[in-house]
Amino acid sequence: MSLSGIGFDSHRLAPGRALVIGGVEIPHDRGLEGHSDADVLTHAVIDALLGAAGLGDIGQHFPDTDERYRGADSIALLEHVMRLLAQEGLRVLNVDCTVVMERPKIAPYKQQIVERLADVLGLPPRRVNVKASTGERIGFVGREEGVAALAVASIAEAG
Ligand code: MG
Repeated sequence: MSLSGIGFDSHRLAPGRALVIGGVEIPHDRGLEGHSDADVLTHAVIDALLGAAGLGDIGQHFPDTDERYRGADSIALLEHVMRLLAQEGLRVLNVDCTVVMERPKIAPYKQQIVERLADVLGLPPRRVNVKASTGERIGFVGREEGVAALAVASIAEAG
């Protein structure tokens, strides 16, 4: 039996911050603002996994009031979630996600993002799909005020 979960996240774009998407730093004049490194895609993936496992959400596990997570590398948070899944006897089948960002284009970094996430998720790259969409110049994404990401994960009992 497979279980599925959904994840959504958004972060504000601000000057003087790094733009980290799926564990990959993308050169840009602004980056994502947040308590951790604000890796919007990794946060959406974490919520999809926690949702599929019935383990709540990212805010419950890594509260933004907790100083331990200030500037946290979100890939390390994803690794922690993978350990929680393993403790529950669960493995990931696949992850599909969409980054909604006006600029810059993530196409040149897509493969690197897929490989980074696949490595942490213990999956072949083919089972991690990263899609890109824009805000068509409308809304907070289109005005380049922020970036959003959506993810769906399927997991199953290991063995
Ligand atoms: Mg977030």
